[in-house]
Amino acid sequence: MIDPRIGRIVVGEDELSERVAALGKQITADYTDRPPLLVGVLKGAFMFMSDLSRSIDLPVEFDFMAVASYGSSTRTSGVVRIVKDLDIELTGRHVVIVEDIVDSGLTLAYLRKTLAARRPASLEVCALLLKEGLQKEEPDLKYVGFRIPPDFVIGYGLDVAERYRNLPYVAEYAGSKQS
Ligand code: 5GP
Repeated sequence: MIDPRIGRIVVGEDELSERVAALGKQITADYTDRPPLLVGVLKGAFMFMSDLSRSIDLPVEFDFMAVASYGSSTRTSGVVRIVKDLDIELTGRHVVIVEDIVDSGLTLAYLRKTLAARRPASLEVCALLLKEGLQKEEPDLKYVGFRIPPDFVIGYGLDVAERYRNLPYVAEYAGSKQS
């Protein structure tokens, strides 16, 4: 795809597949006796969830939720609204939240609080990308794919106005966020 708004590659295809496979192996080892329920956060995590789950050698179950933050499209305001809730009850389940990217950490803090209130047996987070230095306190993430600089990125599920999600790598966005 030739598009000048696709900037420098931050995480390449090979690096992604290696790291995602390693995360899957780690989850397999950690959850052997208690196959988890994977909760994907739409839409950004769909590709990561798909690849990650294929590297987990356990009878996992899937559910998805969609959240939207109020305010502008590319910066989260910290006020999050559930657009699509889970179908599966969490009570007594071992839950792994699968997130695309943690920026301020506010979306995740909200999700964690909301899901913890449903009394899962355990609740952990697997985030593909963590932006360095943007959180007020170190977010409690059991699994992190990559720590990246705090630039706006696209690809591998991440969009600008619904585009670029299908890029097989993560790149800096070199365009205006309004477009
Ligand atoms: P937070 O609440 O941690 O500040 O933001 C998390 C959400 O904001 C992510 O789930 C994602 O939807 C969006 N987001 C944060 N940083 C980026 C980015 O660099 N690129 C894209 N496309 N979305 C981002």
